[in-house]
Amino acid sequence: MSTIHGIRTAHGSACDGETRSYRFRYYAPSDSSYERCIGLTWCSSCREYSGAMVHVPSDEYLPDVLADLPRPERERLARSEVKLLDYLDRLARRGAWPPR
Ligand SMILES: [Zn+2]
Repeated sequence: MSTIHGIRTAHGSACDGETRSYRFRYYAPSDSSYERCIGLTWCSSCREYSGAMVHVPSDEYLPDVLADLPRPERERLARSEVKLLDYLDRLARRGAWPPR
């Protein structure tokens, strides 16, 4: 299912970095597209990543890792997938994410 590490280099050296994934809601609960969410999968080592639209039922709880951040910081991260992945990797290194 994952396309991360799907493309090997000419040298045949495959990255064996740990892959992580994060799903988050994009639309407001009142929106008819509420169940259409963004799913990101990436390698914490080589930074290869892919994003896709994923379906998550409205009654499934998706934790929002940006919820506790000040609004300007949250919007800065939400605008850039790369910045968001950097932030999630920092949380993961501190053991603060993903929740166990
Ligand atoms: Zn990798």
